[in-house]
Amino acid sequence: MNDLSPLPQYLVKRYEGWKATIHSENHAWYRRLAEEGQRPRAMVISCCDSRVHVTSIFGADSGEFFIHRNIANLVPAHAPDGQQHGTSAAVEYAVTALKVTHLIVMGHTRCGGVAGCHAMCSGHAPEMDEATSFVGRWMDILRPGYERVKDLPEDQQVPALEREAVMTSIRNLLTFPFVKEAVEAGTLTLHGLIHDIADGTLVQATGDGTRWTPV
Ligand SMILES: [Zn+2]
Repeated sequence: MNDLSPLPQYLVKRYEGWKATIHSENHAWYRRLAEEGQRPRAMVISCCDSRVHVTSIFGADSGEFFIHRNIANLVPAHAPDGQQHGTSAAVEYAVTALKVTHLIVMGHTRCGGVAGCHAMCSGHAPEMDEATSFVGRWMDILRPGYERVKDLPEDQQVPALEREAVMTSIRNLLTFPFVKEAVEAGTLTLHGLIHDIADGTLVQATGDGTRWTPV
């Protein structure tokens, strides 16, 4: 195998800047994190989208958030089938080993994954229907959500599907026995948010998730 290349120079420069400033000025904090291990209070599940800057939004330092990112911030239902489930593994570790007290699902506006799901389900993206489409099969998690929004006025369907993505994940989280137990014991709270990329606002789901209010 001879497939690897050195890191591009612009990243090397940025790394050197970080090491000389932020890391150097907080050396004791990083050492403590290394020696004592991580104790994040919250897990965040967000989209891979580069515009969703979770740590920046909450002003979070290293060690504060256990973050899992995937296409359209989706959590599949509990499926103990012996297969490889990256998202489920992250949830299991956060809840049972790290014992996070808050689990936040953060969706966002203009989500390409959600828009793709809408196109697929409405018959406009046949390539995503192929068995070989990883994105398509991943977005199957949100197909029931499409059924709930497809009769809305057209311009409201994708924004509603973004909220469905968050609430589908919340409902699926509760199918994991250890999540349900922790929520019922009062040691874990679940939160659903949508981050507006353009204006920076956050809205949160309340009650059964049919009402969304500004943070
Ligand atoms: Zn997205």
